[in-house]
Amino acid sequence: MSNLPLLTPITSAWMHELMEEKSVLNELLEKYGSPINIHQTDSMEDNFTSYQNVFDEFGLKYKIFFARKANKTKGAVQKARSLGMGIDTASYQEYTQCLDMGISGSDLIVTAAVKNRKLVEKAVQNGSLLILDNEDECALVQEVASDQNKKAQIGFRVSGFFLNERKLFSRFGFDLLDINNFITTNLINSSKYNLLEYKGLHFHLNGYSIEERSFALTQCIAFSQLLSKKGLKTEFIDIGGGILMNYLEHETEWEHFNQQLRTAISKKIDPITFGNQGLGIEELEGVLRGELKTYPFWNSISKGDFLRGILSHKTHAGENLAEAAKKLEIEIRMEPGRSMLDQVGLTVAKVAFRKKDSEGHWLVGLEMNMTQMLSGSSDFLLDPFVLYQEVQVKEQPVEVYFTGAYCLERDILLKRKIALANLPQVGDLVIFVNTAGYMMHFFESSAHLFPLATNLIWNRTTENGKIHSAHFQNDENL
Ligand SMILES: *Cc1c(COP(=O)(O)O)cnc(C)c1O
Repeated sequence: MSNLPLLTPITSAWMHELMEEKSVLNELLEKYGSPINIHQTDSMEDNFTSYQNVFDEFGLKYKIFFARKANKTKGAVQKARSLGMGIDTASYQEYTQCLDMGISGSDLIVTAAVKNRKLVEKAVQNGSLLILDNEDECALVQEVASDQNKKAQIGFRVSGFFLNERKLFSRFGFDLLDINNFITTNLINSSKYNLLEYKGLHFHLNGYSIEERSFALTQCIAFSQLLSKKGLKTEFIDIGGGILMNYLEHETEWEHFNQQLRTAISKKIDPITFGNQGLGIEELEGVLRGELKTYPFWNSISKGDFLRGILSHKTHAGENLAEAAKKLEIEIRMEPGRSMLDQVGLTVAKVAFRKKDSEGHWLVGLEMNMTQMLSGSSDFLLDPFVLYQEVQVKEQPVEVYFTGAYCLERDILLKRKIALANLPQVGDLVIFVNTAGYMMHFFESSAHLFPLATNLIWNRTTENGKIHSAHFQNDENL
């Protein structure tokens, strides 16, 4: 038995149905190469409903936009659209692909960090709302609108919110201390930006703090009241994304892992990560410093509950933020990306080789590379599943690291050492679950000329109760 801490992921029935059909997975890998990303979008409905219920509970006017940058597939966009969501787009390509899919301009918003003229022209032409980040963007949109002889719908991204005495830093948006002056000077007291039709305010905060979002919303509501006195009506406030989702079954495992990691970094037990990496924690002169720099894979307040936490925040006047917004007839908007993709995808890769490294650790080489499952934080902390091609008669426990195909010492797919019942054989399959949000696509690259992984959409129909490889559609052909 291994003493390594477990991190059991939350899984869905569809994932297990699929893992029980090894032959179908083998066929798919044969056809599309390794790795493949499989999507089953039914769970997006639960994720959407989780938010919808909270808005309904408060009787608020709302609109939810799926932030599609978290996953490249058209399948996820189609599902979001069928649920009645709008789509938040972050590039010309994301935007025009949505138009090509038949989504109307009024259901699309553009929050792209960089908006080139091509994108602005398309958005203005199709009547989509642009979220403006800086004055140069205002000038560009005014120019484009003037060329097209029409008005452009815009919202302002705001930042620099105060949390008690602390000001939250952001490189995005107009500073809260400047925007009043900016709007008064340029939109109210002059016709400089007379073709910008102001609709509302927007923020998207780094991190996962309910409190910070509550303060930001409070400050946006206060600002909207100021604007309203000057004759400018705020129709919506968009609270962005960054709504937590929970990946793990057991809080106890999460706590045990955190504690074991610290013990390992203190060198009191054998390393539980590759090269005893601290994932943000380090030991300096016998003292542990820093903190775990990963996504909070286990958390108790996620999705709808997280949203409720923001909206039920009490203002000084004693009412909550939902009541305040309602009274002012402000629609609350949000743009969940990751959390809309909870339980939507998994990544399957084939074992290419097993070997021991120069310190005697077992390495299991997979036909995939680190960019095909890369977290923006320091690791993806979920136990993978191994599908052995042959029946395992006897357990011979082993501890391994999974390695990838880039010629970098650091192409280690999970930094954690993983305990398995048996050493995988060449051709066995390794499955990483719940990878649809950011893990599959956000950082994928084609170094060594490796092609990008194929994205498949499974509509979960069966034929005579059997899953069939023909039910998996290549997202490119949607
Ligand atoms: C990335 C992003 C989102 C989505 O964030 P998630 O953490 O995936 O929910 C929403 N809005 C903006 C402006 C973004 O940049």
